[in-house]
Amino acid sequence: MSSKHVSTLIVGSGPTGLGAASRMSQHERTMHMKLDYLLIDANEEAGGLACTDVTEEGFLFDLGGHVIFSHFDYFDGLINAACGTDTWNTHQRVSYVWMRDRWIPYPFQNNITCLDVPDQIKCLTGLVAAKAKPMDGKPKNFNEWIDKVMGEGINEIFMRPYNFKVWAYPTSEMQCSWLGERVATADVDKAITNVLNKTVAGGWGPNAIFRFPKEGGTGGIWKNVSKNCVPQDKQQYNSKVVKINAAEKKVTLDNGDVITYDKLLSTIPLDMTLRMVAESETEDVAAKCRSCADTLAYSSSHIIGIGLRGVNPHDTKCWLYYPEDNCPFYRCTVFSHYAEKNCPDPTVMLPTLQFGDGRSASGSQPSSGPYWSLMLEVSESAAHKPVDMDKVVKECIQGCLNTKLIEAGTEIVSIYHRRLEHGYPTPHVDRDGVLAEALPLLKDRDIWSRGRFGSWKYEVANQDHSTMLGVEAVDNMLFGSREFTLNYCSLVNERGRKYTDMKFSI
Ligand SMILES: Cc1cc2nc3c(=O)[nH]c(=O)nc-3n(C[C@H](O)[C@H](O)[C@H](O)COP(=O)(O)OP(=O)(O)OC[C@H]3O[C@@H](n4cnc5c(N)ncnc54)[C@H](O)[C@@H]3O)c2cc1C
Repeated sequence: MSSKHVSTLIVGSGPTGLGAASRMSQHERTMHMKLDYLLIDANEEAGGLACTDVTEEGFLFDLGGHVIFSHFDYFDGLINAACGTDTWNTHQRVSYVWMRDRWIPYPFQNNITCLDVPDQIKCLTGLVAAKAKPMDGKPKNFNEWIDKVMGEGINEIFMRPYNFKVWAYPTSEMQCSWLGERVATADVDKAITNVLNKTVAGGWGPNAIFRFPKEGGTGGIWKNVSKNCVPQDKQQYNSKVVKINAAEKKVTLDNGDVITYDKLLSTIPLDMTLRMVAESETEDVAAKCRSCADTLAYSSSHIIGIGLRGVNPHDTKCWLYYPEDNCPFYRCTVFSHYAEKNCPDPTVMLPTLQFGDGRSASGSQPSSGPYWSLMLEVSESAAHKPVDMDKVVKECIQGCLNTKLIEAGTEIVSIYHRRLEHGYPTPHVDRDGVLAEALPLLKDRDIWSRGRFGSWKYEVANQDHSTMLGVEAVDNMLFGSREFTLNYCSLVNERGRKYTDMKFSI
């Protein structure tokens, strides 16, 4: 058991913690400041939810469909400094919804034309009715927002079932202030014109073009940030925080070591931080912390990867959406399409584990590739959508067959499954009230709780946002600067709006 003191303790080496630590390091270099900080993480290496796993057979899988789309010059500068500029593949998003046994280009609401006439009528009459009825005040929840903006037809056919599959919460329990660029709206004139002209629209959204590392998956980016942008002696792994005593400004690690701090930047999920802090608070503060923690809603994510022998039959498709109940997953990523090195080299000899229709291939002799891969995401919530750990992989493979992603005779050579307890921070109707109470309560105790789950705002929970949450928290600690990403989410998400006055340099 040892004890030490640092001025700033950063807990978590995901994008938020690494954003914070690299900012500290940048200030030391460029402003010649002497900063006393330390980044610690429970895991043995950097990356957090943005890491990449490798199966025994050599297939890479990210923890869900991660693509880089940046709102910030600063973020671009950081990852370019860490990884170089010629280490990326650039892809055009090719994305479809699979329903009614056919591909409908994403977003669904702009491509009603691809549906059969009865569905087209339902969607268009709903849209026209919604447009004809003026909005009477702000929608109370996401379901109401969909009805008012897209109409009951689109809601019933696509939005409600799809969003339940993604979030594992009914849309009536979700708020709508997070929407912004995350959900395409529907334009009634365009929808009618497209249906009558039988034209198909595409290319919506902020990530129509995205980049992906040629090697190492998404996790490779964060390993490089950890290696190249933060001094090694400022990082400590295999160090899990099990207690936070806010009054004494000290954390206890799972091996009994104690670290005292002046300021703490925590990227631990906010509900867990609140429960730890509650332990050493007065009764009324502890009750407040626990009530906030209980109210925060989240879903867990199952990431299922399958490595396959053969040539990818899905051309340039990137990620695909599944609203129907013929498969448990809401999204599938053709992960081998992002980078050649996401699969083993074709010369690698692998036996077949099973076939697409579930038939066993036991005793199969190893043979060569080529290989391709699919990554599937399944949501789970204790409140609304349980998932059976022992059955989900089998059901996903059957789902791939049902939705024609694979064929009965497709050879499966690798199977991957990982469950993330905290997968998506749910924008629940009660969320903002809790955040307005919990984040200032912690800040009053010199704890900056930031990040995808640290500050629990899905609208600023991607890698670029998380990095900036960390960067801005550091500047707030050191200089009192405003934290834009945390406090002005829709502003930072406005397309094309970048911080041009803030740059990363190495
Ligand atoms: C399914 C899925 C899909 C996604 N898709 C995209 C995408 O397409 N594009 C995109 O940009 N982003 C995407 N993201 C988001 C991206 O993963 C996050 O933005 C990012 O990982 C959040 O970073 P963070 O540092 O806030 O948190 P995390 O990555 O969760 O890191 C937190 C770190 O804290 C550590 N920690 C937790 N508790 C303790 C403790 N008690 N003691 C010590 N250490 C602790 C953890 O080990 C972890 O390393 C996706 C995420 C998921 C789950």
